[in-house]
Amino acid sequence: MKMQRVTTAILTAIIICALLTACAAQQGQTPDPASTVTPIEVAAETEPTTAPTEEPPTLAPTLTNTPAPTETPAPTDTPTATPTSAAPKPLIALDPGHGGVDLGARHFDAAGKFTMHESKAALEICLRLSEILQERGYRVLLTRDDNYSLMDAKTEEEYDTIKELQMRLDKVNEAQADLFLSIHMNGYDGGSHAATQEVWGTMTLYCDQRPFSDSNRRFAELAHAAVLDALTNLGHDAKDRGIQLDNSMPDPGQPPRHLIVLGPQSDRIVRPSQMPGILSEPVFISSDAEEAILADPEGIDALAHAYADAIDAYFAEQADTSAE
Ligand SMILES: [Zn+2]
Repeated sequence: MKMQRVTTAILTAIIICALLTACAAQQGQTPDPASTVTPIEVAAETEPTTAPTEEPPTLAPTLTNTPAPTETPAPTDTPTATPTSAAPKPLIALDPGHGGVDLGARHFDAAGKFTMHESKAALEICLRLSEILQERGYRVLLTRDDNYSLMDAKTEEEYDTIKELQMRLDKVNEAQADLFLSIHMNGYDGGSHAATQEVWGTMTLYCDQRPFSDSNRRFAELAHAAVLDALTNLGHDAKDRGIQLDNSMPDPGQPPRHLIVLGPQSDRIVRPSQMPGILSEPVFISSDAEEAILADPEGIDALAHAYADAIDAYFAEQADTSAE
């Protein structure tokens, strides 16, 4: 898993749009051709390869560790995603990253023109995925279904990431969603357009410190593999950046912190998610090749189908497990 370990280091340098307030601002800067930013692929290899306890999980398609639905009477957090003939189909919460004044990561073409932003691409995938899931009988809750933030911020200054994400969590918790999928696009600024093109790929994040950690991991594996397959089938040179722990992407100057939408209760996460979930970064929107996929309705459709198939597979396994 050398590749994945390197990836972890790389991504400490890359901005994961996902997460924190700084993201949009960092992404928003027009690449400066004069910058001498070290290409992160090189920089990453000089990173110490410590942190064995943070070794990213392997992507093992044959993984058999079952999600261990607890049969003991404890769990307010136990996944309830075991459809029976009498039960309604699972409720899937889809969270298109960012929105409103928070554009997320951005793409600039070779001429420096701003052509695409993360919040738009994430919304398009989620809207298409919502249609597919409903066709398959699922119930769907979108944290947002258009270009807005729940807190309805009018300016970037007014926008508060923690408050916004807590509002989204409250929404999915209140609805008692069975599964949570947050979709973002990664971004990288190499300092020049050419250097920025050196970074692309697919990454999936989950938290391993929740009562439903096994389910988180399994859903991450299924979604990650499905997205990579879909991108490859589109003829893209898909790059596997691994399944990563949600607290393996520290902000500079900060201790490792969980993603707000995935992590356990803390001073930043007052009311954490109550259902299994992941955050998917299918592509780098900063990459010309990967932005082209997002600009193509076929690409959006392929990604949406990949997530839908992963959700199908996840619940099929849950049903099998509970039947044993
Ligand atoms: Zn993001």
